[in-house]
Amino acid sequence: MDQDDEELVLDMVREFAQSDVAPEDMSIDKNRKIPDELFNKMVELDLLAMNAPEEWGGVDLSLSTVSRALEIVARANASVAVMLQGQFKTILQLRRFGNQQLWDEYKDRVHDTIFAFPMTEASGGSNPDFIQSTARKVEGGYVLNGSKVMITNGGFAQVYIPMVKNEEGAFDFFVVDSDMEGFSFTGQENFIGLTGTPIGGISLKDVFVADYHRMDPSLYKDLSIADSAHGDARVLMGAVLAGIQQHALDEVLKFTQQRKAGEQYLWQLQSIQRKIADISIGYQNTRLLYQDAAAKRDAGDSSYFLTATMAKAYGSRQAVSGGDDAMQAIGALGYSADFPIAHLIRDARAMEFAEGSVEKMRTEITKWEVKNG
Ligand SMILES: Cc1cc2nc3c(=O)[nH]c(=O)nc-3n(C[C@H](O)[C@H](O)[C@H](O)COP(=O)(O)OP(=O)(O)OC[C@H]3O[C@@H](n4cnc5c(N)ncnc54)[C@H](O)[C@@H]3O)c2cc1C
Repeated sequence: MDQDDEELVLDMVREFAQSDVAPEDMSIDKNRKIPDELFNKMVELDLLAMNAPEEWGGVDLSLSTVSRALEIVARANASVAVMLQGQFKTILQLRRFGNQQLWDEYKDRVHDTIFAFPMTEASGGSNPDFIQSTARKVEGGYVLNGSKVMITNGGFAQVYIPMVKNEEGAFDFFVVDSDMEGFSFTGQENFIGLTGTPIGGISLKDVFVADYHRMDPSLYKDLSIADSAHGDARVLMGAVLAGIQQHALDEVLKFTQQRKAGEQYLWQLQSIQRKIADISIGYQNTRLLYQDAAAKRDAGDSSYFLTATMAKAYGSRQAVSGGDDAMQAIGALGYSADFPIAHLIRDARAMEFAEGSVEKMRTEITKWEVKNG
């Protein structure tokens, strides 16, 4: 797809975000659900398959463009954008590590079915060594057992690629359908932010999957498929965090240009200007980081992982503090649950855990600096 065509797709996403998503922003947060009509509209516009290859009927958007699309959606509502983030990251791993038989089976479903990538277990997400889910080889396939928690799209997705340990103790990944015998949902998380994104747990009890449902082990060594998923997800999360900051800017600019303090509008007060400028700087820097990471990833430059990690580590803190600045600039109305700022802060805060906690990411960045700095 050439650049002009990619821009046309982004125009369509912009129109969708403004006309269909933005009006539902507050109700999605309150009702803890993306309305069915909105989801159906995404299917109708083929948004779920934006980064699927053309052989699957997708438009094969680069990571750079698909992340720009996510920023646009997140500016209208982060819950919708994070659901799409879970979809796009899982499709990328299926493309990268799947096989022809798997692609033939799932290529039509990426257009109307939600996908998810479960790694975290109740024992903790930061240390994969604690993972207890298993794969046992049997004739013609594998039997999977275990349970996963806090999975983006968990409970709503119909296709999952869980990380399990095989009999050699190495990590393995299999494509699992929610209608397979032994598969069940274990419930939604009661998270305080991203309340519209389905996030929940799954259980696998003697689930049989055919041999070809195993992601191609010759294409990855041990954890690298998890790293691949984390890397893509961090770029996409960076884009979501840029969108959240832009949403905060939209609200603060609108409000401070119509509310007066004495003779002056709020935006004309120096203390308010400092807050607006800080939100703007945070937004621009997050955007630069995630776009740089995406461009590197598209060019096959492995240093993208570090930049993507920075985009999420920096962007998540900045989106929380930018939301706080926006709340203060707006005044007590900004503190109301009937105003979007509170949910922007709650939504952004989730990204300090998802796809690797900020503590773990800072360790990764420091180790890189010690080695290469
Ligand atoms: C919105 C959202 C979406 C998510 N989506 C998914 C998903 O799609 N798939 C999935 O598999 N998981 C998902 N998760 C789970 C996420 O990956 C985990 O929350 C994350 O890996 C951290 O694990 P934990 O929350 O269990 O914390 P723990 O690992 O138990 O850690 C607890 C605390 O200790 C700190 N800590 C732990 N180990 C270290 C260390 N070595 N060095 C320094 N500090 C450390 C952590 O930073 C954290 O502050 C999601 C989480 C959220 C909030």
